[in-house]
Amino acid sequence: MSLSIEEKLSVNKFFVDEENAHIEIDPAYPDLKEKMKLVNACPAGLYKLNDDETLSFDYAGCLECGTCRILCLGTVVKKWEYPEDTKGVEFRYG
Ligand code: SF4
Repeated sequence: MSLSIEEKLSVNKFFVDEENAHIEIDPAYPDLKEKMKLVNACPAGLYKLNDDETLSFDYAGCLECGTCRILCLGTVVKKWEYPEDTKGVEFRYG
């Protein structure tokens, strides 16, 4: 039996640091093409384009893959750090 991406992601555990967002963005960054890179590339689907072309983003489900850092640090992505010790994703493969 093969599992969907959503089913595979749902077995991971997240220890969300509510005090400190490890990724911060400019949701109203003016270049739509740059924002669409994030919408299309984030493997967890955490970047969503709103009707007014601003971005919604929730770091709580972040897989810490670094894709958004590579694509858009310095444009849409204003800060990218790993979560502090004991916080962030815990991968479950089974
Ligand atoms: S690090 Fe990866 S999973 Fe986390 S927000 Fe960026 S692209 Fe998405």
